[in-house]
Amino acid sequence: MTPGAGCRTGAGDAAPSAMSPARATIDAAMPHADTPPAAPTTPPATRPLLTLAAPRRGKPPVHLADLAPADRAAVAREHGLPGFRADQLSRHYFAHFTRDAARMTDLPAAGRAELVGALLPELVTEVRTLEADRGTTRKTLWALHDGARVESVLMRYAERTTLCVSSQAGCGMACPFCATGQLGLTRNLSTAEIVEQVRLAAAASRDGALPGGSTRLTNVVFMGMGEPLANYGAVLAAVRRMVEPPPAGLGLSARNVTVSTVGLVPAIDRLAGEGIPVTLALSLHAPDDELRSELVPINTRYGVDEALDAAHRYFRATGRRVSIEYALIRDVNDHAWRAGLLAEKLLARGRGWVHVNPIPLNPTPGSKWTASEPGVEEEFVARLRQAGIPTTIRDTRGRDIDGACGQLAAEEC
Ligand code: SAH
Repeated sequence: MTPGAGCRTGAGDAAPSAMSPARATIDAAMPHADTPPAAPTTPPATRPLLTLAAPRRGKPPVHLADLAPADRAAVAREHGLPGFRADQLSRHYFAHFTRDAARMTDLPAAGRAELVGALLPELVTEVRTLEADRGTTRKTLWALHDGARVESVLMRYAERTTLCVSSQAGCGMACPFCATGQLGLTRNLSTAEIVEQVRLAAAASRDGALPGGSTRLTNVVFMGMGEPLANYGAVLAAVRRMVEPPPAGLGLSARNVTVSTVGLVPAIDRLAGEGIPVTLALSLHAPDDELRSELVPINTRYGVDEALDAAHRYFRATGRRVSIEYALIRDVNDHAWRAGLLAEKLLARGRGWVHVNPIPLNPTPGSKWTASEPGVEEEFVARLRQAGIPTTIRDTRGRDIDGACGQLAAEEC
């Protein structure tokens, strides 16, 4: 699919915040952030502005996955059922991936439909799924209760099955090379809207939607639409639901959950203190402030060194090796000297704490930028490796269905 002029962006019914002024308020996730972020310098009129706080819109209905186990029991009691019924319901949802009351025969027929209706409302509805890479990559467009739309991408590899989830409808970070960044921010997703993407992918994997037969969803990466750390509360609760064993949650390994961020420093520090060793990925894209402020506008607030320091603190607190993401853009950030400067900055903070993931730039509509020449990419990687930095090129799964990194725009043609 090639999004073109006739495409309708499905970012919801409200005017995208792309046209609204940069907001001064910052999510409570960032307790130390007490001054407004600087907007990127003189952006062209059509360029979305950096937006940290999500517009307030009608909240989706409360769902089991929004609630900690004790609160689920309270809801069961409100329906005249003993608290343990909530555990049974949780097991259906988190272990069997179902919200179908007809399959929950261990729950008494009287009141079952009401309980399921109250705790498992339909939050995300499939609009369409596109396949690529001989079916091993599946991009699904979901409609949310208010018409907002998000996408998730399921990918089967030899040794793992990974879901790329969205944490926001649109994104407020305004990175000019990212399709989602051009939409502006529609709203934050709720915890359950995030978990539902995972539950549905786990069910699809188990039910043989991917070539090779039934498989277990093993990995989740917050690399879909949105900046996860700008929606901290909902994302963290979703991570808890993902890693807690059933019936509390889905029972994924925390190390197999990756939170990818533009580098919201206070939120990285807060995440480091949560005691959940998820993998952190930092979208760096340039080792120097001058260029990074253009590519990742939040850099005007949290610069390269601050972001790298926070990533290093994250490693020290959790023992998890951090990933540095670096989209290689031809003649923009792919110079050998930049690889050298990146290596220098990483090594200045120690060895063995980090690896680099260069990503050949995926094309996005209207962007003049393109991926680096193969030889240039090789040289960039070689420089990092020579310096002793583990470096692996990220694959570009789903490119031809606009399902690769930075291509998600919830469009329906
Ligand atoms: N907001 C988060 C997560 C979403 S994007 C973040 O920025 O980290 C996931 C990754 O894809 C990020 O590293 C992002 O910079 C990268 N990306 C965005 N657009 C891209 C593009 N066109 N080509 C390659 N990678 C891209």
